[in-house]
Amino acid sequence: MFRVALASRPSGAPEAANFSYEPAPIPVPGDGEVLVRVHFMSLDPYMRGRMDDAKSYAAPVPLGGTMEAGGVGEVIASNSPAFKPGDFAFGMFGWATHGVQPANMLRKLDPSQGPITAALGVLGMPGFTGWHGLTEYGKPKAGETLVVAAATGPVGSMVGQVAKLAGLRTIGIAGGADKCKLATETFGFDACLDHRAYETAAELQQDLSTACPDGIDIYFENVGGKVLEAVVPLMNDNGRIPICGMISWYNAGGLGAGATSQGLSAPAIWRSILVKFLSVKGFIISNHFDRYPEFLAEVGPKVASGDISYLEDIAVGLEHAPQTFMSMLQGGNMGKQIVKVI
Ligand code: NDP
Repeated sequence: MFRVALASRPSGAPEAANFSYEPAPIPVPGDGEVLVRVHFMSLDPYMRGRMDDAKSYAAPVPLGGTMEAGGVGEVIASNSPAFKPGDFAFGMFGWATHGVQPANMLRKLDPSQGPITAALGVLGMPGFTGWHGLTEYGKPKAGETLVVAAATGPVGSMVGQVAKLAGLRTIGIAGGADKCKLATETFGFDACLDHRAYETAAELQQDLSTACPDGIDIYFENVGGKVLEAVVPLMNDNGRIPICGMISWYNAGGLGAGATSQGLSAPAIWRSILVKFLSVKGFIISNHFDRYPEFLAEVGPKVASGDISYLEDIAVGLEHAPQTFMSMLQGGNMGKQIVKVI
């Protein structure tokens, strides 16, 4: 088998030298464990955080350890009555061609119900993140206006579509004209602004205020940075900001010196929260999987019927995972980033 290990910790944006693609022995399943041949693996922004040796909500990947990832694949050996060879499952197998997990850490998939890759994106952790963050903390109401950036990714596209189905005006922010076209034509956003076309937050804010004539009621926070600064002054009283991610700062050396503000200071943001009575709520989706069955029951049929669309960007070859990951952090993905491992 092959795997990708963490060779060194990045300072700033990851580089090829931080990863090592190498052979490894196929793991042997113990009692109650299952061996899976991974077909597809997910690349997600959170993996950048796992490369740092900093205190966080999850432990870092140790140096020399296999990079962490969810994957889907076929059971090839099982010491559990819950799985037999030929079954398909989702599990945290890492950046690797094979993985062993306890049976109770796996979720069985039925390939006859749709592509197994959906378990990595639209019906997996990212889609669930968008749905949970919006419904639980965004508290969407028909007629309101929602803004979300990284609008064509698996989180943002779910947020936009669930909000649209709930009767909101949805404004996406995405990188580049092609992504903005995708946001409006495929994911039903009422408008989409290209954040890369604006030098400053003030310029972005000007066009955002035109796109949101009634102000912004929900800002689903995926990116931080320039977009956050443009949005906050446009928030309506009693607006909601679910804080899901802040990818524009992930490569900024631990949210330190690189994470500069272009103008809107922390005191100004803090004051807006006060005087506009904003509700700001951070969340980490791994703490909320009790709602996952509810998500699957509600969103699964909408994906099957086409009421909720999704797009996957599938790179081929585990050896290309580092390059694909580095590109995704900079917006190189068009839809949910997946790697075809075999
Ligand atoms: P995406 O597939 O959307 O990929 C990340 C996207 O971020 C890029 O494609 C790019 O889109 C955008 N981006 C990168 N840099 C910048 C920047 N400087 N300014 C604005 N946008 C930028 O990712 P996901 O949908 O998987 O994740 C979206 C967010 O949700 C991330 O912040 C992630 O960490 C967070 N998340 C949080 C979870 C939680 O539990 N709280 C769980 C899952 C995800 P574009 O080209 O359009 O700018």
